[in-house]
Amino acid sequence: MKIKYIFFMATMFMAMNGYGQVKVIAHRGYWDTEGAAQNSRASLKNALQLDIYGSETDIWLTTDGHLMVNHDESFNGVMLQTSTYAQCKDLTLANGEKMPELKEFLQIMKKTKSRMKLIIEIKKHDRLADNLAAARATVKAVDGYGVADKVEYISFSLDACKELVRCAPKARVAYLNGDITPAVLHIDKITGIDYHLDVLRNNPHWVDEAHGLDMDVNVWTVDKVADMQEMKKLGVDFITTNKPLEAIKVCNER
Ligand code: MG
Repeated sequence: MKIKYIFFMATMFMAMNGYGQVKVIAHRGYWDTEGAAQNSRASLKNALQLDIYGSETDIWLTTDGHLMVNHDESFNGVMLQTSTYAQCKDLTLANGEKMPELKEFLQIMKKTKSRMKLIIEIKKHDRLADNLAAARATVKAVDGYGVADKVEYISFSLDACKELVRCAPKARVAYLNGDITPAVLHIDKITGIDYHLDVLRNNPHWVDEAHGLDMDVNVWTVDKVADMQEMKKLGVDFITTNKPLEAIKVCNER
């Protein structure tokens, strides 16, 4: 009887706290719709219309301190990390928008009543100093718009992750590169792993290791339903996907 009661209370606690429910993060926004493009304002606004945990985006620091939103290091031949804002501002996305600055995304996040998080990836710049400067500038911008509670951070750069932890000690910060155990990241106060599907397949024990340290497990980029189901079964907390509608369905399946 006592064991049954403990089990019941544990189940209730987990349900109340959302444990066990896999959450969806739209990769580069919800862009796979008419009129949107990856990492566009439209893709962020689309994501805000969905009942999902977060919308991921990528940022690069220009030589004059602007944070540009784009995935690749170059766009139409312009290398973002070695260019000025003036060289980047008129770059046109596939949907006709000009390339956004992070501050425009933060304005959108400030206005929205949605509880969705913006997951900001600090891209891995070539120079250590730029990774650190990009992390600092991003946290400063987020704090400046008063949206720290609506933002989480990720990076392939361990240096950027550590700088994010230093500058924003209350923020969730996850490492992307898949080559470090949760236990080692935990020493640096990094709060999660955000690893490729195959990395988690090859190291399934990292899920329990991370959870035992109160760290999150996110997996990218999972677009096939069978892979989503596999990762859900493995016990990940978040699925980052280009197919958020499909992922919502999988996450809601009993
Ligand atoms: Mg990214």
